[in-house]
Amino acid sequence: MAERVIIIGSGPAGWSAAIYAARAVLKPLVFEGAITEENRLQGTLPLGQLALTTEVENYAGFPAGDLKHFLQTAIVPERLQYLNILEEKHAVTGPELMELMRQQAFNFGTRIVTDDVVEVDLKRRPFTVKTREGNSHEAHALIIATGARANYLGLPSEEAYKNRGVSACAVCDGALPRFRNKPLVVVGGGDSAVEEATFLTKYASKVHMVHRRDKLRASMIMQERALGSPKIQMEWNSTLGEVLGSDKEGVTGARLGSTLGGGDRELAASGVFLAIGHTPNTGLLKGQVELTEKGYVKWTMPFRTTTSVEGVFAAGDVADDYYRQAITSAGTGCMAALDAERWLAAKGIH
Ligand code: FAD
Ligand code: NAP
Repeated sequence: MAERVIIIGSGPAGWSAAIYAARAVLKPLVFEGAITEENRLQGTLPLGQLALTTEVENYAGFPAGDLKHFLQTAIVPERLQYLNILEEKHAVTGPELMELMRQQAFNFGTRIVTDDVVEVDLKRRPFTVKTREGNSHEAHALIIATGARANYLGLPSEEAYKNRGVSACAVCDGALPRFRNKPLVVVGGGDSAVEEATFLTKYASKVHMVHRRDKLRASMIMQERALGSPKIQMEWNSTLGEVLGSDKEGVTGARLGSTLGGGDRELAASGVFLAIGHTPNTGLLKGQVELTEKGYVKWTMPFRTTTSVEGVFAAGDVADDYYRQAITSAGTGCMAALDAERWLAAKGIH
């Protein structure tokens, strides 16, 4: 028997879609991804991008407090082993928030498979999805919530200091104590890089913007913001060669190369923020559903999560190269479930 709705992905978009679909008695089946070394290396382990971070201070509803008791009562004991719950008062951490969302979806009857979807056939109905373990499932409606992953340069030193000074999200991590009143580095020259650098000026003593050319890609208004800030120092024609640091302190600086053939130089910095674009997790969708030029799933109607294939809906970062926040992903996850529910009802599929 074909499922009414299958959800692929396990970030805020996937779990929010599952909560709504389960409460609509659609009995959603979620593929949350596989626990493999490949997924770890590319940042796509189950529970999404937030599982890679520490405290999430901007997800509404979680002011800092004594969360230990709440977490221990909300989450089933066999999942608590995956959490390292802080003793002190804290804002919800990314892994905690994701376990809570997963648990909430499960409580309403969501079925969860810890495996990757590696192939989809959206050309025949019901749709077919195939998993890494070789299983095949059918569904009348599909919600794609596979997210996106931040681009990194691929330097070994970058990998070594992730979560200890290297980040790809200033809005998420910038306010952490280690970055306060210290010089920081932002790599990139687009709108995101300017936005990150400008955001970081609230906390940093100085922000070095490292860009590989002598002209920003960012829009004019954003360029003016960067070039007019007394706290942002442009490092033109420069590349990040190595993140410098130690086991004890994490990031302590950056070694920059020159694109004009000059020698290397070092900057002191307690953080290095990469803002060189994102890659959506849409590899398995090529040729099946329309993608944008940048490879994101294309939403085909304003304020709807519909795609080029009727019955296939997309939510979260996989379809959003602009906002890229947990709360907006959860919002579009809710929309996708409501869109799927209404579409199934209109088709008479119960
Ligand atoms: P994702 O969170 O990207 O999750 C998608 C997941 O689906 C993947 O990780 C994987 O497990 C699964 N998946 C992918 N492909 C498949 C497949 N083929 N089969 C099965 N499963 C699959 N936002 C904030 O609002 N506040 C913050 O503080 C914040 N901090 C961040 C810190 C970091 C380090 C990063 C990287 C991002 C941060 N963000 C933050 C951004 C936020 O994490 C994203 O906007 C949000 O997670 C996107 O949610 P999503 O559900 O679209 O997808
Ligand atoms: P982007 O526009 O693609 O810019 C990426 C930047 O990273 C570019 O400056 C690029 O350099 C640099 N870069 C890419 N790969 C690199 C590498 N390997 N080494 C060094 N530098 C590298 O991406 P984005 O800034 O994330 O923006 C994405 C979209 O979101 C855009 O459409 C943007 O307008 C939008 N956005 C808008 C706002 C806003 O309006 N407030 C804020 C954020 C994002 P080059 O310039 O040399 O190519």
